Amino acid sequence: MKEFDLIEKHFSTGGYKRKDVLIGIGDDAAVTKVPAGQCLVTTTDTLVEGVHFLKDTSPDAIAHKVVAVNLSDLSAMGAEPAWLSLSLSLPSIEPEWVKSFSEKLHSLSEYFSFQLIGGDTVQGPLSITVTAQGFIPEGNQITRSGASSGDWLMVTGCLGDAGVGLDILKGERRVTNEADASYLKNRHWFPTPRVLAGTTMRRIATSCIDVSDGLLQDVKHIASSSEVGVLIHLDKLPISQALGANVADLNDAMVYAATSGDDYELLFTVPEEQRVNIETALSSYDIPVACIGQITGAKGKIDCRLNDQPYTFDSAKAGFEHFS
Ligand code: ADP
Ligand code: MG
Repeated sequence: MKEFDLIEKHFSTGGYKRKDVLIGIGDDAAVTKVPAGQCLVTTTDTLVEGVHFLKDTSPDAIAHKVVAVNLSDLSAMGAEPAWLSLSLSLPSIEPEWVKSFSEKLHSLSEYFSFQLIGGDTVQGPLSITVTAQGFIPEGNQITRSGASSGDWLMVTGCLGDAGVGLDILKGERRVTNEADASYLKNRHWFPTPRVLAGTTMRRIATSCIDVSDGLLQDVKHIASSSEVGVLIHLDKLPISQALGANVADLNDAMVYAATSGDDYELLFTVPEEQRVNIETALSSYDIPVACIGQITGAKGKIDCRLNDQPYTFDSAKAGFEHFS
């Protein structure tokens, strides 16, 4: 199969079609229209085999992850997804691989109402880059820099599952209960981008970030951008039943929740007077949310407490960084 046939067969058709796409796949460039009063929000993420996903990861998991990480970044700004571009570097064209990859992409496109508007296909090591664009009403974006002293620190969903899932896949952790093992692996392969949570937080959250590198790592970005400190109650971190049941003790689960990455939950701050509003709004959508701490005036200080006692992490565990 040639590149042209591949695009024609798997990418030009299928997926959600939007009215604001005037020209999609097939010309030299896409032409799209931003609605009046809305701002365009753009993000890009690349997944490289062996770095961001294990060798032999299934194509549908790769497609899911590359879309999810991008939608997660849009969500963390409060934006709703609209358009996606895809740059695929493939060692060779394996029709079954591309079919499964594109089917997953199209089903996510239907689910989240975004349209694939273009991309590029080249031969090279397996690597996938997605650029996602979305809209936000002018002035409604949620940045990392708006937190102030006294705001509550909150997080959606559960933390640590994707990290344990990865350790199970690498053979570094044994989980005897099959249902738990598959739940945790799926949380690594198929993270949920919190699109609805992100749009719900507009004009309520004072700051927001998605948890991609690990809670401790990502909370530092809020602290430094907002020029504040953070108090985290480690005993309040939301931990799934599957994670809790398959580690030596609660402390072990807490370390996963605080330090492992790839959960793609939203970490955000709200002022006291908005706490009930956001809890009610998110629970009306069945989105779990937990209050895990508070913003302080101690600039740049991340103060971790376990049952109200100071707690220090093994520095090797404090989050994933490239080039470190
Ligand atoms: P050009 O050589 O002008 O860059 P291409 O042959 O690369 O054109 O692309 C032709 C059309 O197919 C363009 O609309 C491009 O956006 C789209 N396209 C190419 N690869 C992909 C892909 N992996 N996913 C989606 N659209 C793609
Ligand atoms: Mg091209």
